[in-house]
Amino acid sequence: MTLYRDEGVVLRTHKLGEADRVVVLLTKGRGKVRAVAKGVRKTKSRFGGRLEPPGHVSLLMYEGRDLHTINQAETVDHYRSLREDLDRMTDALAIVEAVDQVAQDGEPNAPLFRMLTGALRALGEAPERPALLLGAFYWKLLALEGVTPMLNECAVCGAGDVVAFDFVEGGALCRQHRRGPAVDAAVLDLVRRILGGGLTGVLAEPASPATAAASALGTSALEAHLERRLWAVHLLGH
Ligand SMILES: [Zn+2]
Repeated sequence: MTLYRDEGVVLRTHKLGEADRVVVLLTKGRGKVRAVAKGVRKTKSRFGGRLEPPGHVSLLMYEGRDLHTINQAETVDHYRSLREDLDRMTDALAIVEAVDQVAQDGEPNAPLFRMLTGALRALGEAPERPALLLGAFYWKLLALEGVTPMLNECAVCGAGDVVAFDFVEGGALCRQHRRGPAVDAAVLDLVRRILGGGLTGVLAEPASPATAAASALGTSALEAHLERRLWAVHLLGH
């Protein structure tokens, strides 16, 4: 069996047998992998609480055909401030849930790994919970998937005066072709800034009806893209 080193973020876990757990990780080098953590559910497990979402760990693993086996796991970042703040933890779990949906087994995706660790760090380090971090992450995830909605003109006819947004129709829509929720210029401007390199400024925006609307739009766009609802978002009421 080949032993290898990698680092990864825990996306989710489930029980295996009496004492073991399957840990699904997004790794830096190998994309999404499933690995067994033996004895992890015993009180004196050598892994402690490190292998819980959204833990960022450095790993020593045995390669397996379907399931790898975790030999060592050392914490890279505890995201302690996330664990002490329920709202931020909820955002973090929604982020790893979305990544789990998008990531492919065994296919390295360096930009996705960078985005994930960057978002978790930003979420943990910001003095106030950034109102638009989760929404912005969803928009950036869609962009990474190669999905770019129309924001400046009607996705159906090209008219410049847009009043609504429907992801399935291709983005912003004019009065004549309107479908989906109404949007105003402030909301579309936020989305434009998220996708156009203005993310840092957007994350500093205080919570407002526009940040809430841009965030909700990002969630429904990603949901439409994934064709399923993101349980973490809805379960926890965000
Ligand atoms: Zn139109």
